[in-house]
Amino acid sequence: MEAQTQLNRYLRELGLPAMRECYAEVARQATQETLSYEQFLLELARREAVARGERRIERLRQESRLPHAKRLENFDGGRLSPKLRQQMAALRDGSFLDRNENVLAFGPPGSGKTHLVCGLCHALVEAGRHVLYTTSSLLVQELLIAKRELKLSAALKKLRRLEAVLIDDLGYVQQSREEMEVLFTLLADRYEAGSVLITSNLPFSQWEGIFKDPMTTAAAIDRLVHHSVILEMNLGSYRMEQAKQGSGRDGTRVPEETGPTDAPKAAPSTSNVT
Ligand code: ADP
Ligand code: MG
Repeated sequence: MEAQTQLNRYLRELGLPAMRECYAEVARQATQETLSYEQFLLELARREAVARGERRIERLRQESRLPHAKRLENFDGGRLSPKLRQQMAALRDGSFLDRNENVLAFGPPGSGKTHLVCGLCHALVEAGRHVLYTTSSLLVQELLIAKRELKLSAALKKLRRLEAVLIDDLGYVQQSREEMEVLFTLLADRYEAGSVLITSNLPFSQWEGIFKDPMTTAAAIDRLVHHSVILEMNLGSYRMEQAKQGSGRDGTRVPEETGPTDAPKAAPSTSNVT
């Protein structure tokens, strides 16, 4: 009993919670199965390592701020074109992060851009990658606050530690020049230093609405596109499609006039960037 109390204390001090929790059980097992001392210790070390790995992934998941439900497991990949499926298969191994490549997903609202790219990021987190989900408006607000507090470079430095920053919904026209400027500063800062994943309803031809003047717009697009994978989601709204299928079966009415045809006409032509 005395030995157990001491052992518990040491294991706590050494930060080995999994060992502390399971040594009694593993010791019983070792006696039953006549494990050697090395095998016993190996089993304890293995359990600690597994638990530590799980805690790390859980921490990465929380820090990523990724929406929980948007995983690839509940994404219907059947809607994707063969090209998109091929691109996703290549992206999933995460090697694009090592090359600081960007991912740009374009398509009309509801086509699944956010879900697909978040799903990809969840898979990357599970592989131990350090990513952050943010929306473009939230990001701009946070950077503006940092700038006003003269902490912009510290904020950028913190973002530089991430392997990927996912900026969801780039396109909602920024209110002021200052907002556009911090966004541009971030993109410039990450250029060839870390990956950026962007979803947008707006084709490049409309990005002047975001970056205000043609020079800045061209510079932003140039940097993003230089090393990038472009996902063209030329799909209708997933929910609209589901609802329409539903209406065939149970008679639920779907308002036709709000269909995806009202959406901005899908993706930009990539012929000039590939
Ligand atoms: P976007 O970002 O292109 O506007 P979202 O990714 O937000 O679209 O998708 C809209 C809704 O439809 C979300 O609830 C999303 O989970 C769902 N959705 C879109 N595409 C799919 C899909 N292929 N499989 C499952 N759910 C989808
Ligand atoms: Mg979206």
